[in-house]
Amino acid sequence: MLLKINDLHASVEDKAILKGINLEVNPGEVHAIMGPNGSGKSTLASVIAGKEEYEVEKGDILLDGENINELAPEERAHKGIFLSFQYPVEIPGVSVTNFMKTAINESRKAQGLEDMPANQLLKRIREKSEMLEIDRKFLSRSINEGFSGGEKKRNEIFQMAMLEPKLAILDETDSGLDIDALRIVAEGVNKLRSKDNAIIVITHYQRLLEHIVPDFVHVLHNGKIVKSGTKELALELEEKGYDWIKEKVKA
Ligand code: ADP
Ligand code: MG
Repeated sequence: MLLKINDLHASVEDKAILKGINLEVNPGEVHAIMGPNGSGKSTLASVIAGKEEYEVEKGDILLDGENINELAPEERAHKGIFLSFQYPVEIPGVSVTNFMKTAINESRKAQGLEDMPANQLLKRIREKSEMLEIDRKFLSRSINEGFSGGEKKRNEIFQMAMLEPKLAILDETDSGLDIDALRIVAEGVNKLRSKDNAIIVITHYQRLLEHIVPDFVHVLHNGKIVKSGTKELALELEEKGYDWIKEKVKA
């Protein structure tokens, strides 16, 4: 099993947010996490990635059977966890290509490897940009500077492709995903999903899941996974909204 989460409780600023999450993710699977605003979806992503403002009160996060509770975010990244950035920063003067080169070599250094040879790096850039239909010109632009919503997503998916994570977590904001951005994310995920990696897509809306067909759908409500199912659950949510889930939990 790639990721196993056992009875995870987490808080931020002494406020309990996650209240007993259990989740199992195998290589080759795509999981969607849905749920109303404020249910803890982004918190779960942040806690898996190891963001320091979140306190794990109880429970375990295992990656490939190893407890990663105490690892720093960059150590988790080097072990193959990738979290997309909801609010990407601009880095003037640093191109998309150079940013990737730095990220890849930092990860290799942490694993005790030399820098990736230039020809190998160029080959990977060429392969991934062709696969994702990314224009050469895009690769020489400064990170996120003047990027449209779609371009930010393209950059994010390109990062994911280049880093080849074992576990990618894409946290999609509830707003700001226009049709173009939606298509880029969906096509990217579909091209990058493989038997060796797993992808967790977090989204408020069923819309994205019309294009990414998840193996499993989980509904998060008030810090707990209150329902899990297959792709049909996403359709049911689209039809009925979240209220019936909330009612069921109350009952
Ligand atoms: P979702 O992504 O499902 O909309 P979040 O995980 O962002 O939900 O938020 C869950 C709850 O945790 C909300 O009540 C939110 O205000 C709170 N929360 C999340 N992150 C922080 C933070 N850094 N500081 C204070 N409260 C936070
Ligand atoms: Mg969120």
